Amino acid sequence: MTGCTKISRGCDNCYALLLAQTKVRASYLRRSPVKDTVANREDPFAPRFWDERLEQPLRWREPRRIFVNSMSDVFHAHFSLEIIQRVFDVMNRASWHQFQVLTKRPERALRLSEHLTWTENIWMGTSIEDMDVAFRADYLRQIRAAVRFISAEPLLGPLEDLDLTGIDWVIGGGESGAAHRPCDPSWARGLRDLCVRQGVAFFWKQWGGRTHSAGGRLLDGRVWNEYPVPLVDATV
Ligand code: SF4
Repeated sequence: MTGCTKISRGCDNCYALLLAQTKVRASYLRRSPVKDTVANREDPFAPRFWDERLEQPLRWREPRRIFVNSMSDVFHAHFSLEIIQRVFDVMNRASWHQFQVLTKRPERALRLSEHLTWTENIWMGTSIEDMDVAFRADYLRQIRAAVRFISAEPLLGPLEDLDLTGIDWVIGGGESGAAHRPCDPSWARGLRDLCVRQGVAFFWKQWGGRTHSAGGRLLDGRVWNEYPVPLVDATV
């Protein structure tokens, strides 16, 4: 899947939109002739489903951690239940991989969840960048995924009052890129302390800045690399 629609503050500097308009678009055009259409040239970020790529994970024999959709949102209204079921079918069959599905639309994920098969290798997450979208956790915790996680990236406000009931993992991080918004250290500390108090695995990805690695990864002098379950090898 590629393409999406902005839905909350965390989308303001969406990297998928930026990439769709720039270099990834060029590489997609080279690799996949079907994408080189008039419609796609006019609107490269319109939601689209790329059938010919769906079964790629079944051909990767070595176990991988797979971020399912870095260029779209699986539960965007554009994608039908039938298409989402096909995505889940591949994840169900590719049992040797771990799949991380992240959405900003967990209410739709919950609504469809009873029509989907939640094998143990599927991790389901939602993005929460500030307390205005804290309600997303309420939908996520009702989904029967083996691992439920919150991506607090970019972290745009304090989350120390977030309810982590039923949540297994929290990833936090600052925003990167030319228009990045600053991440207050007290927000990061508050989120970490919340996770420690509630026994939830915590991963601090980076502070952000003009580049991804500009601010480094240390939070009060240490790296936070916790995971909710043992990992298979590589990430793609
Ligand atoms: S939901 Fe994700 S992919 Fe969609 S616009 Fe927002 S940040 Fe971009």
